[in-house]
Amino acid sequence: MPQVLKAPLAVEFPFTRSLGPVQSAFLTGLRERVLLGVKTVDGRVLVPPVEYDPVTADEIRDLVEVAGTGTVTTWAWNHEPRRGQPLDTPFAWVLVRLDGADTALLHALDVPGPDAVRTGMRVRVRWAEERTGAITDIACFEPYDGEPEQPAGHSGEFEDAITGIVAAARLDYTYSPGRAQSAYIHALSDRRMVGERCPSCRKVYVPPRGACPTCGVATSEQVEVGPRGTVTTFCIVNIKAKNLDIEVPYVYAHIALDGADLALHARIGGIPYDQVRMGLRVEPVWTDGSRFPDHYRPTGEVDAEYDTYKELL
Ligand SMILES: [Zn+2]
Repeated sequence: MPQVLKAPLAVEFPFTRSLGPVQSAFLTGLRERVLLGVKTVDGRVLVPPVEYDPVTADEIRDLVEVAGTGTVTTWAWNHEPRRGQPLDTPFAWVLVRLDGADTALLHALDVPGPDAVRTGMRVRVRWAEERTGAITDIACFEPYDGEPEQPAGHSGEFEDAITGIVAAARLDYTYSPGRAQSAYIHALSDRRMVGERCPSCRKVYVPPRGACPTCGVATSEQVEVGPRGTVTTFCIVNIKAKNLDIEVPYVYAHIALDGADLALHARIGGIPYDQVRMGLRVEPVWTDGSRFPDHYRPTGEVDAEYDTYKELL
């Protein structure tokens, strides 16, 4: 039994959002070391601010400056800071109610250990050296035993206000493809395509998932398929993906490998994109150093009859 594989997998994309007047003032304020909340219909001050009253749903625009000092209302210890978190040493996640606010803001508290944190402790903002109009303009909070700071009553009007931000979303996984797909990936390193047959309905799944989704039984009989196959359906890609060095337009297709009862998907090359068609016979093209075929290209055979692949669309 070959080793079950696992590898790090990061899903990452930039998320661009425009800011309404309230978030714009809040983030621009951070850049200028000014902390702003918003006043609700019943007179409470929300920090971080929102654009609509959480009780009445009225639009709220009345900005109020609050202090850079406050009180921890609850906390949790973070033993292992991860990439992109506010501090790279262990720290406390804290909710801080800033002086002048009625709600609490989530941020990091820089203390040596969990014994140095308690609910009710006094803290103040530590500003980042370089500020751009983002929540990271607050580097973190730190313990503070002085007097509450007095806000200057800023109006929330700024020159050169921030109107949009790009927030990078990133999810880090450790991905394991499991027993069946690990065997498939191992076979690919010998440039062989190995699927698994269902003992009940006899279908061959490529790539195999370890069980037949129709019959609900485990698959274990390994079956070599391909390497040639048939395009069952396809689309033309016109949008260039970030970090992918392929000229658009190009064709991405479902390909039923010979002997397989499930189509896999891959790029089609070696033929103009507008000449790719259902039934086109293709074969994999391997490049050095890559475990997967780089793309599939026409074999020159006569197109497959529709009836031979109509169940595999
Ligand atoms: Zn089955």
